[in-house]
Amino acid sequence: MLNIVLFGPPGAGKGTQSEKMIEKYSLIHLSTGDIFRKNIKEESELGKLAKSYIDKGQLVPDEVTINMLKQEVNNHSNAKGFIFDGFPRTNKQAEALDTLLKELNTEVTLMVSLEVEENELKQRLIKRAELSGRSDDADPKIIQNRIVVYQKETAPVKEYYHNQGKLKSVDGIGSIDDISSNIFKSIDNFL
Ligand code: ADP
Repeated sequence: MLNIVLFGPPGAGKGTQSEKMIEKYSLIHLSTGDIFRKNIKEESELGKLAKSYIDKGQLVPDEVTINMLKQEVNNHSNAKGFIFDGFPRTNKQAEALDTLLKELNTEVTLMVSLEVEENELKQRLIKRAELSGRSDDADPKIIQNRIVVYQKETAPVKEYYHNQGKLKSVDGIGSIDDISSNIFKSIDNFL
């Protein structure tokens, strides 16, 4: 299996680049943010719980997120591999993902980390808010909180994969196609 963790701060372009990668490698795309938003729309219990955190720019608790992701992975037992987009976002989630994939006799192949500096991120998120209607994009205070949470809780996950020799950083600034082609090169060189 080819299992890619696509990593980067809010606004780095994970969603956009995931679409390119799905096409090329025929992987199942699991975006925890998208799954939460679907649940919020359906007003499920999970959605209501998730919304109370997302609207403040906080992370949904690990246990809830990990259980949800496990279900999604198990629902696709015939997959050729996965793109994990927005997961893992804490070291605890990274450990849980290792355990889950081990049970399936596989592992994370590579983490691709999209590097974009903070001012560019803020501008992209404010612009996206006009189009996406996402409540967590609309308020600069919430955006700032997401960036702080990213730095505190999520950035250390990079170190986790670096220590396993699985980290590949890619410049997230430039044209969408140039960034995709750099991502493809990193993956292909690693295989
Ligand atoms: P972005 O990367 O632009 O912040 P996402 O769509 O990936 O957006 O996530 C939106 C929100 O959903 C996050 O701010 C967080 O509250 C919640 N979320 C998504 N993935 C996770 C996760 N792995 N663990 C905890 N919360 C998550």
